[in-house]
Amino acid sequence: MNAKSVILEARKQGRAALDELAGKRLLASFGVSVPKSLVVQDATAAAAASGNLKSPLVLKVVSPDILHKSDAGGVKVGLGNADEVEEAVRAMMKRPAIESARIDGFLLEEMAPAGLEVVVGGLRDPQFGPLVMVGLGGIFVEVLADVSFRICPILQLDAEEMLDELKGAALFRGARGRNPVSREAIVDVLLKVGGEGGLLMTHGDDIAEADINPIIVSEHAAVAVDARFVLTKE
Ligand code: ADP
Ligand code: MG
Repeated sequence: MNAKSVILEARKQGRAALDELAGKRLLASFGVSVPKSLVVQDATAAAAASGNLKSPLVLKVVSPDILHKSDAGGVKVGLGNADEVEEAVRAMMKRPAIESARIDGFLLEEMAPAGLEVVVGGLRDPQFGPLVMVGLGGIFVEVLADVSFRICPILQLDAEEMLDELKGAALFRGARGRNPVSREAIVDVLLKVGGEGGLLMTHGDDIAEADINPIIVSEHAAVAVDARFVLTKE
């Protein structure tokens, strides 16, 4: 599916933001790696569909009312087989924050290889246009406040400088017995998002805010496992 049709489809449905699957389709259309995933409506369907993916799997609630899925009990990682998937959907449906929300379905996806959790973001400055951001920490991004911004479009050198500017830049080289992770892979994501011809340069008029958190950067890859795009008002 191409980027424009993903955005148009969401607009047609009157959505203020892309849901996670649409957000990942948007990223995939720019060549950013995302986990293989599918959306199901209930526990039985989830169990039946789980055979189409390679375990371990992750289950996530899909709801326009739930911004932080983990906080709502809406993320379960490490599901090993169809029974575990089925049970996880049932348990998730009973969580108070989920029971009371509008539910579009449940996203079932493959787990990305373990690695360093990095956030890539985008926003629109009224004067400068699209900005791209990179930061460390995944869910701790606010706590660590270790981020770097540039005005788009960025070049490869800019992307590399952005990583060098992070206080935790050394983590890419591996620390405390952890393997080094691929700086090239995250530079590549930054260019696909913020470079010339990238997502923000070509669709910035539609995207008020991008929050790709986290991208899991491992030894050879960077996989966007969560994505939220807020659309501009028409
Ligand atoms: P939210 O940010 O809405 O709470 P996420 O989709 O970011 O939910 O998931 C929460 C955390 O679960 C992520 O920060 C990551 O650590 C882990 N996670 C989510 N999806 C995957 C995946 N496909 N592979 C590996 N880990 C994942
Ligand atoms: Mg997230």
